[in-house]
Amino acid sequence: MKIIDFRSDTITKPTLEMREAIAKAEVGDDVFGDDPTINKLQKAVAYLLGKEAALYVPSGTMANQISIKSHTVPGDEVICERNCHIFNYESGAPAFLSGVTLNLQEGYYGVFTSEQVEAALRPADHHFAPSKLVCIENTHNRAGGTIFPVEEMQRIREVADKHGMKIHLDGARLWNASAATGLHLKTWTDLADSVSVCLSKGMGCPVGSLIAGSAEFIDRCHRYRKVFGGGMRQAGLLAAAGIYAIENHRERLKDDHANARLLAETFASLTGVKIDLDYVHTNIVIVELTDKAPFDGPGLAEAAAGQHVRFLATAPDKVRLVTHLDVNREDVEEACNRIRLLWTV
Ligand SMILES: *Cc1c(COP(=O)(O)O)cnc(C)c1O
Repeated sequence: MKIIDFRSDTITKPTLEMREAIAKAEVGDDVFGDDPTINKLQKAVAYLLGKEAALYVPSGTMANQISIKSHTVPGDEVICERNCHIFNYESGAPAFLSGVTLNLQEGYYGVFTSEQVEAALRPADHHFAPSKLVCIENTHNRAGGTIFPVEEMQRIREVADKHGMKIHLDGARLWNASAATGLHLKTWTDLADSVSVCLSKGMGCPVGSLIAGSAEFIDRCHRYRKVFGGGMRQAGLLAAAGIYAIENHRERLKDDHANARLLAETFASLTGVKIDLDYVHTNIVIVELTDKAPFDGPGLAEAAAGQHVRFLATAPDKVRLVTHLDVNREDVEEACNRIRLLWTV
């Protein structure tokens, strides 16, 4: 039986065509700025995101952390959403690397409001840490791939401008938000001072993320990339995969979204499953199990694994499935059949 793996969109392996692009890449020492393929990728991503410059870095975590470092000084405060990646999954790095505190806001499917930001801001009084940065995640990973509404981001931008704060957009899956809505990436990035994007998720690359922003900001990021140990040499081999993905893997994200919808609808039809289909926006499906379901989260993940359908239990009553380049429509239909069967035995 074929293994169908929905654990994450990071598990994809480079396609043959991507490997060919990697093999042909022209390279140089990027610490000297000599790698033509990295330079080309940075230029292309800066253009796509509507920013003056971009910087290639090894991971999304490094992209976010260099951005936070470049926007703040130790003792500053950063406003972000409670379930965001920066707070939950980056190993405490904002405190570790930048010496900042996080002022966490309760979101609804990852979305917090301009009113919350306004209320969270610290007054200019020496009892308080200065609020310097707001971080927004789009799409929101832990909330289930949800898209941050442009109108709310616009209002947060106004609050940030009024109070001299910057905005960093954690756009690890911004590609998905754009593909799902048909809106240009710039719809969101125009409202942010800095943006991070990942190539190693839905885009199917083995490695790589970028930060984009003003030339002056990216110059500061370049320094911190060296400080954090992220300066690479002939990494054009990796950047070539990124260029290939930007040219060939963006349109097909819509297939991942259609596949996620099919999974969500299948689960929604089963006893004891709670899932709000209005909040399945992109390639992540979070399935909540009630007392009426024959399994709890870990039990379901284990039973499905027994049928070679893999996904993660993310809470005692939740599992998460992520669609990606390495599962096609047939695989997803087959997985749905196997999942339905689990409810009949
Ligand atoms: C995966 C992810 C990151 C970090 O990416 P890594 O490359 O795994 O370090 C950052 N933000 C979000 C929203 C993510 O989903």
